[in-house]
Amino acid sequence: MAHASTAAAEDSCPLLLGKNKLPRHREADTSEGRVVERIADFQGPGGIIDLVYSAVFTRGIEKVKQECLLEAGELPLVPRNFDCWLCSTELLSLLMRGSALGNVGAHTAEGSPNTTWDGHNTIGLLSKSEKDKGVPIADALKNPLTPVWILHGGDHFTVAWCSAATPAEPGSKFLLHHWNGLPPGGPRLADLEITAIKGAISHGTSPSKFYKPEPGEIEEVVQADPDDKTDFPGQYRKWRYEVMLAFDRPDLQGEQRPVDALPEPKFQQEDPRYQRPGAWRCCLCYDRRFKTMDFSLVPADSPDWCQKCSRSRKECGWSLWIPFAELPPKRQAWCMSQYAKKIEPLLWTKWPEAEILEVSGRELPDC
Ligand SMILES: [Zn+2]
Repeated sequence: MAHASTAAAEDSCPLLLGKNKLPRHREADTSEGRVVERIADFQGPGGIIDLVYSAVFTRGIEKVKQECLLEAGELPLVPRNFDCWLCSTELLSLLMRGSALGNVGAHTAEGSPNTTWDGHNTIGLLSKSEKDKGVPIADALKNPLTPVWILHGGDHFTVAWCSAATPAEPGSKFLLHHWNGLPPGGPRLADLEITAIKGAISHGTSPSKFYKPEPGEIEEVVQADPDDKTDFPGQYRKWRYEVMLAFDRPDLQGEQRPVDALPEPKFQQEDPRYQRPGAWRCCLCYDRRFKTMDFSLVPADSPDWCQKCSRSRKECGWSLWIPFAELPPKRQAWCMSQYAKKIEPLLWTKWPEAEILEVSGRELPDC
């Protein structure tokens, strides 16, 4: 708890003291002593509030306010939302390294590498927002000095750790412990067996660009097959997915794919393997669904004609049903992050596509 500031942590740890720092040792003894004296208060009911106050007062209120706003952060440090008090990234930063600068991403606002966490990464951080917003977490936080990571699941922080350094080689296995302290998912301690199929990421990956899809490429995954979801619950690698193929759209913005980029697989609208009898989804009407707020299918008794846009089925195009194994890797990755348990895509930001099993066979923990 005294370790709200890294400087304070160094001061209070005799092992880190050089000879030239000896005069400060006495002072440190005092602050450590004061914390130890009050340790029961920190651990008791409301102790978390003492911890936050102690961190803020250690840094200084004015300094904290100033730092919070420096990297596009907001005050207050503890915003009130959803009828509870939330821990902001700025507060997390204050507790982890003693400064309230809230940028945990790999880049500064100017686009240069964010190296402010270097040396302040005894423990690290992995965040779901890396997948959601495409902003990679700072390298130092992804690769902390000890194998301990705070997991940011979007609205909640939990913690994961390993008893030894985690291996980086593709195919390696290790045990990761996960603690979720809050209801409804917790309090729960879970042991996770990780198979790092593709190894570990040591440096942030830049977000992928949006290239305009060419006709015949998959433009969008609409949904997973509801029957497959019932038959193979949670096993999204066994499901089929309803997809829309791209059609020619001069209005759509998006960079042309560079010639040296890998081509995306193309599918045939008429391919008999991917058809489904009965009601069908019109491609043009689906594309306009948010304008018309009409999400319905064309009924089975009109197999060749869409009454909504008054066009023939051939002209409109329709959705196809494609098994997971036949989807292009990028679409598989999208399905995985969509249908996986929240903790999976979060851990994939460090161990891409890793298989994650709960050792006792229970559900994967919430995070
Ligand atoms: Zn239509």
